[in-house]
Amino acid sequence: MMLERTLVLLKPCTIERVLVGEIVSRFEKKGLRIAGMKMMQLDDEILADHYSHLVGKSFFGILKESMMRTPVIAMCLEGIDAITVVRNITGSTNGRLADVGTIRGDYCMSNQQNIVHASDSPESAEIELKRFFRPEEIFDLGDLNLPRLYALDEL
Ligand code: ADP
Repeated sequence: MMLERTLVLLKPCTIERVLVGEIVSRFEKKGLRIAGMKMMQLDDEILADHYSHLVGKSFFGILKESMMRTPVIAMCLEGIDAITVVRNITGSTNGRLADVGTIRGDYCMSNQQNIVHASDSPESAEIELKRFFRPEEIFDLGDLNLPRLYALDEL
């Protein structure tokens, strides 16, 4: 059994639009387990790291500003193939083009104010979880509801 962990950030637009419960609920209902969750105020330094692949883009400054407008909610979600599953639930970057049924497709009109961040690969997930969580802030949930979420031969 390979439980993966991935990072999700609920962006300031989600806090402002009072969608936190709704979005957390989408992940919970899917069967992803919450192994860590906290509210935090981002600053320039962490965002420069987090969005280092976008340095030089015209929208880089606005993006960083928008991510500091309110605190964000950081989540560590866990499950078999969690990184791919969470990216699929999240949908493509631009909310106007994202598939209906995905979070971005269902909840936003923007290419930038797009509700959530989700790690895009195992390598990013590992780096990003370390960036946003101290080790003791991610919890070992043990078996918990695993037998309800998966077939025995998947575990
Ligand atoms: P994703 O969040 O889908 O993995 P990227 O890593 O490419 O996408 O970009 C990170 C974030 O930067 C996006 O979620 C979005 O908020 C913003 N962004 C990306 N591309 C654009 C763009 N062309 N215009 C405005 N904002 C963008």
